[in-house]
Amino acid sequence: MTTEQHDGPRALIVVDVQPTFCEGGELPVVGGNAVATRIAEYLRERGERYDLVITTQDWHVDPGSHFSDQPDFIDTWPPHGIAGTPNAELHPAITPALAGLPRVRSLRKGSNGAAYSGFEATDETGRSLDAVLREAGVEAVDICGIAESHCVKATALDAVRRGYQTTVYRDLTVPVSEELGERARAEMAAAGVQLVWSHTSAEDDSRPATTS
Ligand SMILES: [Zn+2]
Repeated sequence: MTTEQHDGPRALIVVDVQPTFCEGGELPVVGGNAVATRIAEYLRERGERYDLVITTQDWHVDPGSHFSDQPDFIDTWPPHGIAGTPNAELHPAITPALAGLPRVRSLRKGSNGAAYSGFEATDETGRSLDAVLREAGVEAVDICGIAESHCVKATALDAVRRGYQTTVYRDLTVPVSEELGERARAEMAAAGVQLVWSHTSAEDDSRPATTS
């Protein structure tokens, strides 16, 4: 199976690629900055092929118990993605790559509570991700971003539930831990999410030999 086989409208969803989730941010995922750089490269190489490129941002104004001074890192977290702060903006590595693309939509989530899935995000007019995708006739979504074990997984599972052909690019995402990553990938695969490498689109659990 390759992602190229689907000819209908296709969207790329870039989930929460924000400095707040990268090294140096408030809730860093190891490897986050490297993933941001790889996504930027992917956007420059393949971004124009998409009918729509969606970015989501964790954008917390007053998220209640999502934040805690004594976080359990399951349901409660240190403050992160604070609306209006530089670390809640899109990662500077991807901003120039996005600027070169014709069809980019920016959505935000989590204003007043926890919001792991990109399908909880809305655009500046309040429209949901699902509405934005449907209006563009999108039937298939490719997903990348941070973190594989949390918001990427939640977005992918929601996409499958809503009937989208769903692919996650394994090399364009990173989990908060390898153990949680394995668990997330098993859950996504069982739900029907295709887990592939971006440059080969090979459906495989191991990185295939490069052909270049
Ligand atoms: Zn959050």
